[in-house]
Amino acid sequence: HLTRRLFLRFSSLSLLLSTAFSINAFAAEDIRIGISLPTQRDIVWVRYKQGLEEAAKKLGVKILLQVSDQDASVQASQVENLLSQKVNALIIAPHDASAASTLVERAHKAGIKVISLDRLILNSDLDLYVSFDNPKIGELQGEYLVKNVPKGNYAVFLGAPTDNNSKILHDAAMKHIAPLVKKGDIKIVTEQNIQEWQPSVAQRLMENSLTANKNNINAVLAPNDNTAGGIIQALSSQKLAGKVYVTGQDAELTAAQRIAAGTQSMTIFKDQGKLSELALKIAKDMAEKKPIKATHFTANGNKNVPSVFLEPIIVDKNNIEKEFIQSGFFKKEDVYKFV
Ligand code: BGC
Repeated sequence: HLTRRLFLRFSSLSLLLSTAFSINAFAAEDIRIGISLPTQRDIVWVRYKQGLEEAAKKLGVKILLQVSDQDASVQASQVENLLSQKVNALIIAPHDASAASTLVERAHKAGIKVISLDRLILNSDLDLYVSFDNPKIGELQGEYLVKNVPKGNYAVFLGAPTDNNSKILHDAAMKHIAPLVKKGDIKIVTEQNIQEWQPSVAQRLMENSLTANKNNINAVLAPNDNTAGGIIQALSSQKLAGKVYVTGQDAELTAAQRIAAGTQSMTIFKDQGKLSELALKIAKDMAEKKPIKATHFTANGNKNVPSVFLEPIIVDKNNIEKEFIQSGFFKKEDVYKFV
């Protein structure tokens, strides 16, 4: 009798617990993650969009995804719209790192946590930052240049001033370049931002720098592949493409083709599909109120934001086969199309 009574008690207790639990817990398909991307102009953001859509299917969550075309006020109204649709967590890749801080405030007022994707949101009570290790990317770019061009004239370009990555990449690259400037071996002949990361702007700035320096430029710190493309166009007009070291990042196919052809020196392979899945998995965990483990902390002007970083891989003519072709990322005939 006693055993039976205990058993009944136990089963009703477990029923009670499981009912209580099922009220709190979401089924994966009930989780709605709002996503706001800044642009589709660079291939990386197209890859993020695809990666997030694929990850949503894999994880069984619903995503509501909006793209603002490099416009902070459009991004703000899109985020308002996502919040009004009662999303359970938000992923934002900001167009304007500072302006986006109000978006975090708005989300928090609605009780929604925010993950900053790839680009950091500054001066805010941001919940998490998920990105590639951008300081490492800048270091790899700077280190590559000084190794190959330890003396000479450098043109130094930064990405959009609205993007916090621009400064991170530049400062990290300068860790390697600045000591040689101090020593007198390297001269920085120009140092400028490329508005909106636009290749046409990069091309114009490079043309002007070549003219101002009578074509005497030996190395170019280009912040990404798309702008490297504009810079190499300017070099090409002066028959200098392939003679001047030019960095990049993103692993765009056009960059891989330029590396194969010898006009761009290196790029950085960042697997946006992998980062998309990681960001969405974390957003799901946040919606389910699970604890999140950070691997890094990143100062954003307001706090040290818990961060999760993926490692970037440097690619140049020495490992292009292994990283891009043997890995299956690109087809050999596509990479060597113009060689
Ligand atoms: C990203 C780069 C991208 C650039 C321009 C940066 O924030 O990290 O991968 O090329 O934005 O879109």
